[in-house]
Amino acid sequence: MDINFCAQCGKPLTYKVIGDEGEQKYCECCNKFYFDNPASCVLVAIINENNQVLLLKQNYISTKNYTLCSGYLKKGDTLEETVAREVLEETGQRVLSCEYVQSYYFAPKNLIMTGFIAYVKASEFDSSNEVDGLMWVNLGKAATMVEREKNYSGVHLDKCIQWLKTHN
Ligand SMILES: [Zn+2]
Repeated sequence: MDINFCAQCGKPLTYKVIGDEGEQKYCECCNKFYFDNPASCVLVAIINENNQVLLLKQNYISTKNYTLCSGYLKKGDTLEETVAREVLEETGQRVLSCEYVQSYYFAPKNLIMTGFIAYVKASEFDSSNEVDGLMWVNLGKAATMVEREKNYSGVHLDKCIQWLKTHN
């Protein structure tokens, strides 16, 4: 969502040149610039000790295909803390370690998605009400089951499969 009004005083924003950035949105009243920064979330391929990936069934996204774990950053949390929190909330798995793989820009939501691999030791599932099912799947098969049109689950899974071949 683009910002058109000052969050402090509520007045409409104008434009002002700021250094190398060129014209930026600006509140004359508060002397404050606005940058239309994207929101930030993590997108996580959860991998267990048998080299399987955890796929999520989320019917609000697709009733047919599976997704990877994802979630928004909260104020005060690092990316790694967000990965651990979202994986635990959505699947009940505890992250042992995680690695940054690649980021994706999702234009419809002005959202920067930071793609991680998270390593876990498979344990009992405990999912949130945003999740309708969970399944460990071998990597090759998972690539045929994952959502490829509505979000970046398929793109990130492909990237992680390549990553696992070259980094482990
Ligand atoms: Zn203002």
